[in-house]
Amino acid sequence: MQVTKPKVVVLGAGYAGMMTTKRLTEKLQPEEAEITLVNKHNYHYQTTWLHEVAAGTINQNRSRIMISDVIDKNRVNLIHDTVVKINKNDQRIVLENDEIDYDYLVIGLGFEKATFGIPGMDEHAFSIVSVDSSRMIREHIEYQFARYKVEEAENDHLLTIIVGGGGFTGIEFIGELAEKVPQLCKKYDIDRRKVRVINIEAAPTILPGFDQDLVDYARKSLEFRDIEFKTGTMIKECKADAVIVGKEEEEEEEIKAGTIVWTGGVQANSIIGDSGFELTKGKVNVDPDLRAPGYPNIFILGDCAWVMNPETGKPYPPTAQIAIQEADTCANNIEALLYGGQMEQFIFDDKGTVASLGGREGMGVVFGDKKLYGMTAKAMKNVIDDRYLFLLGGAGLVLKKGKFRPF
Ligand SMILES: Cc1cc2nc3c(=O)[nH]c(=O)nc-3n(C[C@H](O)[C@H](O)[C@H](O)COP(=O)(O)OP(=O)(O)OC[C@H]3O[C@@H](n4cnc5c(N)ncnc54)[C@H](O)[C@@H]3O)c2cc1C
Repeated sequence: MQVTKPKVVVLGAGYAGMMTTKRLTEKLQPEEAEITLVNKHNYHYQTTWLHEVAAGTINQNRSRIMISDVIDKNRVNLIHDTVVKINKNDQRIVLENDEIDYDYLVIGLGFEKATFGIPGMDEHAFSIVSVDSSRMIREHIEYQFARYKVEEAENDHLLTIIVGGGGFTGIEFIGELAEKVPQLCKKYDIDRRKVRVINIEAAPTILPGFDQDLVDYARKSLEFRDIEFKTGTMIKECKADAVIVGKEEEEEEEIKAGTIVWTGGVQANSIIGDSGFELTKGKVNVDPDLRAPGYPNIFILGDCAWVMNPETGKPYPPTAQIAIQEADTCANNIEALLYGGQMEQFIFDDKGTVASLGGREGMGVVFGDKKLYGMTAKAMKNVIDDRYLFLLGGAGLVLKKGKFRPF
C-alpha cells in the first residue's frame, strides 16, 4: 500500500524561503515529506545587494544564485511559477500556470514598495524591489547621462538623481551612487559639479532609529562625496521629471530630476492581503511560533510578517537577518507538527546592523554595542554577506559569489 507523504509547500525563494527549504531537507528524510519550493524566477537573489545593482556598482548576475545550484532538485520539487492566490480553506495555491495543494504552507513572498498615497509616486518613481527593477534604475541613470550629452545646454536636470527616503535602503543606495557618479562623469566626459544626488527624508534625520554617532558619520561621509540632504522634508507629489517638496507650513518647491527613486517604504507582498489574511499595517501579525493566527498549518516569515519583540512589545524591523533566523524556527516547528513534538517560539538573536556607504565606507553596530566605522565596518558587512552565502551553499558558494575585499 502506498502511503501519501505530507506535502510541505514553501512560497518564495528569498532569505526566508531558501533557508526554510534548506533546513527541511536537512531535518526530514525523503520518505517523511514531499517538499516543494515555488518561486517566480529560477534564481534566488541577494535582496541586500540590490542597491548595488541599481547603482551599477555590481553586475546583476553577481546578486543572483540559481536555485538548483544550492537546493537539491532530486529532493525538492522546484516550481518556477508565480503565485497568484492562496486559497486557505481548500489548502490550494493558485499559480499563473498551475494549481498545487499543501498540508503545510510556508509563505516567504517578501515585500513590495509602499508609497503611502503620494500622488504620482507609483507611476513615476523607480523602486529597488527586484533584480529587474534595480537593473532598470542602472540603465535609466546611464541613459540620462548619455542623453545629456546630446541635449546638453538646456537640460541640466537630466543629471539630477533624487532618492526619496533616508532609511537603510536609501542611504546604502546613495552611498553606491557617490562612488558610481564620478565613474559615469568620466565615461561621459561630464563635470561632476553638474550632477546632483539629493536624498529627501521626511523625518528630522536620516537613518531614523540609528545611534546618533553613526548617523552623523554616515551623513558626513556622504556629504564629503557631494551628496545633498533634505531632511524634515516631505515629498508631496512626484511628477515624471520632478518632485514637489515642502516642510510643514513652508512654501512648496519643485525640484526637477532625470531620475527619481523611491525607497521610503515597503509593505508585505499584496498576495497576502488579497488571500484574506488579516493585516496590521500591511503585514500579518504572526503568533510567537510564526504561524498565521487561526491557521495552524500556515507559517508566515520574513517581510510578510510582524514578529513581536516580547521585551518591547513592538515588532522587530524586517531584515534579512531575521528572515534567516525565522527559517530555523519554522523548520523545527514543521518537524514538531509532523511528529507531535513541542512547538518552538521564535527568539531573535540580534547580531547587529551594518550599513554600507559605498566604496570603502560603512558604519554600524555589532556584538551588542560595538560601533564600527569606515573600512572596518565595510569589511564586517562583507563578512555578514559571506556568512549567509556559507549557510546557504557552503564554501563553494562563498568562493563563487562572496565579497572578499572591503571595497
Ligand atoms: C537594497 C536593500 C538593502 C537591504 N540591506 C539589508 C541589510 O543590510 N541587512 C538586512 O538584514 N536586511 C537588509 N534589507 C532587508 C532585507 O533584504 C529583507 O528584509 C529580506 O529580503 C526579506 O526576506 P524575505 O525572504 O522575506 O523576502 P525576499 O528576500 O524579498 O524574497 C522574496 C522572494 O519571493 C519571490 N516572489 C515574490 N512574489 C512572488 C510571487 N507572486 N510568486 C512567486 N515568487 C514570488 C521573490 O522573487 C523573492 O525571491 C535590505 C533590503 C533592500 C531592498
